Amino acid sequence: MRELSGLVQTVVRGSSWWERHGIDGGLLGLAFLSLAAGFFCLQSDNRLLFCLGIFIQGAAHSTITVKGSHMASHYALTESRFWSRIWAVFFIEICGSFPAHEGVHNHVKLHHAYTNVIGLGDSSVWKIPALSRYIYLFLAPLALPILTPLVALGFLKDMEYRRALRSLCFISLGLYGHYWLLLEISGFQSAGSALCCMFFTRAIFAIPFIHVNIFQHIGLPMFSLDKKPKRIQQMSHSVLNLPRHPLLDWAFGHSIVNCHVEHHLFPNLSDHMCLKIKPIVSQYLMEKNLPYNEDSYLSRLQLFIQQYEELMVHVPPITQLVGIQ
Ligand SMILES: [Zn+2]
Repeated sequence: MRELSGLVQTVVRGSSWWERHGIDGGLLGLAFLSLAAGFFCLQSDNRLLFCLGIFIQGAAHSTITVKGSHMASHYALTESRFWSRIWAVFFIEICGSFPAHEGVHNHVKLHHAYTNVIGLGDSSVWKIPALSRYIYLFLAPLALPILTPLVALGFLKDMEYRRALRSLCFISLGLYGHYWLLLEISGFQSAGSALCCMFFTRAIFAIPFIHVNIFQHIGLPMFSLDKKPKRIQQMSHSVLNLPRHPLLDWAFGHSIVNCHVEHHLFPNLSDHMCLKIKPIVSQYLMEKNLPYNEDSYLSRLQLFIQQYEELMVHVPPITQLVGIQ
């Protein structure tokens, strides 16, 4: 890992601020601009333009709440600790309707630190064994816009009082702000129609979001805490990259789509830097005879439909990686 870190650090040191943070900051700025354009499209009586408004807002909302929140949770948007904390609250709480502290803890401290370690970062949070395969894969994700603030409320009641109050205020501000802009700018006449629009824009990318999250870890080797291999072996075995896709890259970011292996090895790098180090990481892992897992979206979807019971209902067996512990 030290050897690979050295190679990656050389690339990082040789990259400009624009590459390290500017490109992704610019993309998030563009997402806010397109979100604003979406509010104006939603004013239209033309059905096509209205649907375009829903789609634009959905894509922008996903870029802001998934790519933005994810990078903010890793403090990858800026090198300043102070601004990193501000961005985490802004993206995760105000935009993403989730308490920032809990989001960072669950994603960074559990999922990243214990990737595919049974009982800790094993992605079991994504499993709902009571649901059948087609309901889980194609219908249940649509409930995410409603479930997210409800789950957030569940976390708030266990949090320290002042932190919970702050999170509640910011989450409410984000939700009410979206609702208010739909009434004031897009001209929705009733609370019901504005809330329906909020639901659709927030649900539009929920299905691929769930897919991407389960495709990249579930079904790959898992480890018990006392037999966890070295970090480079753990990540190379238990993380998978999907291919590049313009819409998914825009909505979720490279770290979540086509550079997930690189992201798990170097979680503090921005999306663009993960893309830049991808050839170095893939070549290094292949030279060391370590896996570099890649598969297409459709192939993973087929696998999850065919082996749903094994992957998502029953607890998967611990794969003993003989010789690498
Ligand atoms: Zn991450």
